[in-house]
Amino acid sequence: GQREEYPDEIINSVCPFCGVGCQTEVHVKDDKILKIDGRDGPANEKRLCVKGRFGFDYIHNANRLTKPLIRRDDAPRGWDIGVPDNDFSQFFREATWEEALERAASGLSKIRDEKGPKSLAGFGSAKGSNEEAYLFQKLVRTGFGSNNVDHCTRLCHASSVAALMEGVGSGAVSAPFTSVAEAECIIIIGCRPEQNHPVAASYIKQAAKDPKKHLFVLDPRGQSLVKYADKHLQFKPGRDVAMLNAMIYTIIEENLYDVQYVQANTEGFEELKTNIKDFSPEDMAEICGIDAQTLRETARVYATSEASLILWGMGVSQHTHGTDNVRSLIAMSLITGQIGRPGTGLHPLRGQNNVQGASDAGLIPMLYPDYQSVENEEIRTRMEDFWGMELDRQKGLTVVETMDAIHDGNVTGMFIQGENPAMSDPDQHHAREALSKLDHLVVQDIFMTETAWHADVILPSSAHAEKDGTFTNTNRQVQIGRAAVSPPGEARQDWELIQELAQHMGLNWSYTHPKEVFNEMAQIMPSLNNITWERLEREEVVTYPCSSADGPGTEILFAQGFPTASGRGKLVSTALIDPAELPDKEFPLVLTTGRLLEHWHTGAMTRRSQVLDNLEPEAVVFVNRLDMNSLGIVAGDWVSVTTRRGTVSLKVRQDREVPEGMIFMPFCFSEAAANMLTNPQLDPFGKIPEFKYSAARLDPLAVA
Ligand code: SF4
Repeated sequence: GQREEYPDEIINSVCPFCGVGCQTEVHVKDDKILKIDGRDGPANEKRLCVKGRFGFDYIHNANRLTKPLIRRDDAPRGWDIGVPDNDFSQFFREATWEEALERAASGLSKIRDEKGPKSLAGFGSAKGSNEEAYLFQKLVRTGFGSNNVDHCTRLCHASSVAALMEGVGSGAVSAPFTSVAEAECIIIIGCRPEQNHPVAASYIKQAAKDPKKHLFVLDPRGQSLVKYADKHLQFKPGRDVAMLNAMIYTIIEENLYDVQYVQANTEGFEELKTNIKDFSPEDMAEICGIDAQTLRETARVYATSEASLILWGMGVSQHTHGTDNVRSLIAMSLITGQIGRPGTGLHPLRGQNNVQGASDAGLIPMLYPDYQSVENEEIRTRMEDFWGMELDRQKGLTVVETMDAIHDGNVTGMFIQGENPAMSDPDQHHAREALSKLDHLVVQDIFMTETAWHADVILPSSAHAEKDGTFTNTNRQVQIGRAAVSPPGEARQDWELIQELAQHMGLNWSYTHPKEVFNEMAQIMPSLNNITWERLEREEVVTYPCSSADGPGTEILFAQGFPTASGRGKLVSTALIDPAELPDKEFPLVLTTGRLLEHWHTGAMTRRSQVLDNLEPEAVVFVNRLDMNSLGIVAGDWVSVTTRRGTVSLKVRQDREVPEGMIFMPFCFSEAAANMLTNPQLDPFGKIPEFKYSAARLDPLAVA
């Protein structure tokens, strides 16, 4: 047998992958990670999934960026030039830190000074710490001079946040996912926790094993949680509003709503009642593909259970009607009073480890830290006083709007930290073409990502296990992550590099540790009241909001009304809207995209983790047997998938979970990038693209 190596030290930290925020023990020897174990955190109780336990070897991957790089004159831009990521010497040359930072900053300053502040934009990262996110948006707002700052929340839960802010006055979850233990009815819609939030899924399964509890899985695709459920409502893709409104109809028609709660705590009920008349389950059954009786029974159980909880994911939010989907979920919960008590509530499962914290910290083009509007004069004046600078009066550009603005010549310079829009944005020909068009692109990352290939200057930075910082998980639990190993070569801390750029652009920043950044954030973010760095060092985790210096924080929100202008929850009526493109003769299938258990987002980390990549090493499209039969293809055959945006070639995997007429592609494989195909049409409120629905065609290929 293999001899176990003993660590030099064991560092307490948190997992870098998903929003569950599992606490970890990182075992280190000779500045290398030996293994990672689960700690007894509130979101994991020692559990870890395959990514958290085994996916750490990307940190020591030989292809980590270790030196600052500058693009050689006339070298072509773009990832599609087809060389591996350790062979970039013809395109980039190594530089000293001083040269790289000077080049990076002077390129940005020149564009700002010659073309105006709005010619620059920045994408920060949902994988970085709260302190990095805060510094990044501060750099864009005070150094670049506009609100053109966004990050990948725009591509995941922007529509959820838009609907939640409007309906209940807060974009965060109302209750942690561990509330499933107190819930009598659990609704899972548009999410696949066993793949994407595996440790959260373990709590859901544990709860669902109790025969007194009811679990409903609402998902056009099958999934493993279905075997724990009372019922799988396999509705037609894109028809969430029809299905959910039929349930709201049932609750109102059958007088199952909570009259007292509605009167005391909501507004808009009469309008909702009038609007919902068009959505009887009998009329909606054909549209959403669920029979009327099932719709009625699910609504009855949800409304009449002692405590009902809804958890959702990208299947709800990544639609042109994503905000309407969430408005319907909010309405269900408000009219039944299934919110504000243990076991009830609304929980959008956050994807990235720190997408909650990065949003809280202000990486949003229309909002300062803590969701304060950039267009409100009083707030802006307060921020101007705090930062000592005049600030832009208009909201900035979102992720997809930024790509369009580059094409239109309105944005010509960008700083991208730890994000990979060349893989994550919809309609990638358009997005990559935009990145290639920039006059000046600075990328700060740990690998030569598809986005970094477009850069003028690349700043090598640190991985999660190499830095100190705070991270906020899906449950609003602020936790501390600690550096366990050193960054490789000359790579530096992300917060230091953002500060260096700020200084080179004329700002007089002088932070000496992330702790000082956290202290500054706490001065203007009421959500951090009573949470200090020292407390986190001592206690590891505090949930926000927290009302006392030694209390654990508030798990359940809205026990006493809502933080809206009226103090009431707002009911918003919704209409049936078709997906932006429907299948037709030329494109008869529905393409949906998402993640795999083993691969994280664009694959920048997990595809460089040998353990994880060996488990899922190649691009595949998941196809139902009936569609395979009608196309005359078998598992392992090569096919092309085509949409109005483009074509990619990859292998077929037979899958019984996708229904006939639908295909699924993970978006982590750059060799067959799913986002070459996706539709950039946006939800008008959350500005989120419709990743979950594109009309597509599948064609057999004779040879790869
Ligand atoms: Fe990490 Fe999420 Fe897995 Fe926990 S569930 S180990 S946070 S990837």
